[in-house]
Amino acid sequence: MNFVTDLLFPNRCLNCNHIIYNQDIICEQCYDQINFTHWEALKQNPLKLKLNTLFPVRETYALMHFEKQGLCRKIIHHLKYKHRENIGRQLAKWTVKKIKLHIKPDLLINIPLHPRKMKKRGYNQLHLYTETLSHAWGIPFDHHYLKRITHHKPQAGKNRLSRQHNTEIFTVPLARCNTHFLLIDDICTTGNTMAGCAWKILEASNNSISILVMAID
Ligand SMILES: [Zn+2]
Repeated sequence: MNFVTDLLFPNRCLNCNHIIYNQDIICEQCYDQINFTHWEALKQNPLKLKLNTLFPVRETYALMHFEKQGLCRKIIHHLKYKHRENIGRQLAKWTVKKIKLHIKPDLLINIPLHPRKMKKRGYNQLHLYTETLSHAWGIPFDHHYLKRITHHKPQAGKNRLSRQHNTEIFTVPLARCNTHFLLIDDICTTGNTMAGCAWKILEASNNSISILVMAID
């Protein structure tokens, strides 16, 4: 049966449309075009410098560089808007291959979608990514730790008011203390959404946060 479906609907590279003979999302030639970060040797990476101005962060990891015309944008676009949920699994496999965690966190969580958005999309594009990493790294995950309670976007700024405003977007139904979280998102642009989640997590005592994103803008 699989043989027949493979013949009728062969797996194709989402970039160049060439047929590929495994479960990958892109062919080897296109894979070589991806701009991976390669930050392993750096003590301070650009993501840490960016986020450190918004909230206290321990370790920061990013798999790819986001480029407006690049392949990374295309991959994440398909993951989020073209019902290609399985791309999350592939990105997690690349992450395990490319990124070595400096310190092992206690719990993996991702930025939640508002329930209305989740219903519309049918899935949270970060869930399969997080679950695959959890399995590979042997670290538990929790998809329900953070809940998004409002629909609007977080606002920029470091002052107390905007921080308060941003944390009101998320809620923690059952807080944990003494936990090192790895907070996961797809693209880090301004970092404001992450900051909103981070300050919410840091309200409970002795928590700390590291960050992992699929791509840094
Ligand atoms: Zn290709």
